[in-house]
Amino acid sequence: MNDANTTPTVITTVAEVRRTLDAHRRAGQTIGFVPTMGYLHDGHGSLIRAAAADNDVTIVSIFVNPLQFAAGEDLSTYPRDLEHDCALAGANGASLVFAPEVSEMYPHGAVLTGVEVDRLSSAWEGESRPTHFRGVATVVTKLFNIIGPSRAYFGEKDFQQLAVIRRMVADLSAPIEVMGCPIVREPDGLAMSSRNSYLSPEERQAALVLRRALDEGERQVIGGERNPTTVAAAMAAVVAAEPLAELDYAAAIDPDTLIQPETLGPTVRLVIAAGLGTTRLIDNAGVRVGTDEPTGA
Ligand code: AMP
Repeated sequence: MNDANTTPTVITTVAEVRRTLDAHRRAGQTIGFVPTMGYLHDGHGSLIRAAAADNDVTIVSIFVNPLQFAAGEDLSTYPRDLEHDCALAGANGASLVFAPEVSEMYPHGAVLTGVEVDRLSSAWEGESRPTHFRGVATVVTKLFNIIGPSRAYFGEKDFQQLAVIRRMVADLSAPIEVMGCPIVREPDGLAMSSRNSYLSPEERQAALVLRRALDEGERQVIGGERNPTTVAAAMAAVVAAEPLAELDYAAAIDPDTLIQPETLGPTVRLVIAAGLGTTRLIDNAGVRVGTDEPTGA
């Protein structure tokens, strides 16, 4: 485990990060990797702490990946603060930060090769953002090839992304253990997200509707509702009552296939996406049928 509260070394080139990590590998050390887009908060912090607890060396990447943004999305306005990110990464136990420029990651400009994870990428986030998971899977593959981690840490906050990455690693036999970490929330229940910084005070208050909709879905499932359409409609009705929120999707799905089944099985994932003004937020929660214990965050 790294000593928390040391300032991490910031590396910006692929060659240097390889050289540095090769030395750790030669010394027989394990490498924990936390890929992020920066503007770090305690959700990221929890991943970094988990990596630092499990591994000899913890490295955080900070890269706003153009490939996973479509035209018209928030690539150019995505919040950035490298100094704050380094302090947060160090305080949580990371000793290295990899923060490459776009030209370092994509030196040939156009990227002709892409990683597609079929089926899991098509619904929910994939339907609203058709090129998103190809961009995510491609950059994560690239980062795995650059960093060569023993373990990589992802948040359940992006539940579909975690499923896509797990499947990609399994299908491609990547020698990496994928670790899923629970959602970290603000005290009032809003899932932490770098995009929360876009919200006006009124939108920030209205954003709590996502958590309320998940709570309503959970009540329905625990109360014995087996029809996913009924559960989804109940979640949608909660969002409809909040004038500042516009629902994208709400659903009760199988956590492994990500498909909405005809009848809900013993474990259910509730997923939701909504717009608050120009900001799009996502959230999710696990429910285990027959108990009142959520399966995840
Ligand atoms: P991002 O910087 O948004 O790309 O997120 C980087 C990683 O942090 C992803 O694996 C996210 O799922 C994870 N993450 C983001 N927000 C949270 C949160 N509130 N709780 C747990 N993990 C999170």
